[in-house]
Amino acid sequence: MVDEKRVSRKVGENMFSLGVRKLVVISLVGGIFLLGNIWLVVNWLNEKGVVDGARYVRREFITGTAVTIIVVLLILLVRPGREAAGRFGLMRRCPVCDHRVIGRGKYCSDCGSKV
Ligand SMILES: [Zn+2]
Repeated sequence: MVDEKRVSRKVGENMFSLGVRKLVVISLVGGIFLLGNIWLVVNWLNEKGVVDGARYVRREFITGTAVTIIVVLLILLVRPGREAAGRFGLMRRCPVCDHRVIGRGKYCSDCGSKV
């Protein structure tokens, strides 16, 4: 019974990380697609002599790109970081009943096993 619980949790985590990876890939593809289109618009604006507008779009676009890259990096960095936090005792799980153990207690509050 305990084994079933642990296996199902692991499967759920794998599906979640797969979903997150898909989301990252889709947003990256969408970002690249948008990037191509926005540069076309900016170049067209430059040709038409709307320099101020093009500069504005370019500045806004560069800011947006930087924010997107930072968010993607954060997603990629936070996931392993959370696992490390679990190892350092911030968010551990009982090895017997899988109950979440908060803080630095040595025993599970649910089943009393040593963590
Ligand atoms: Zn327990």
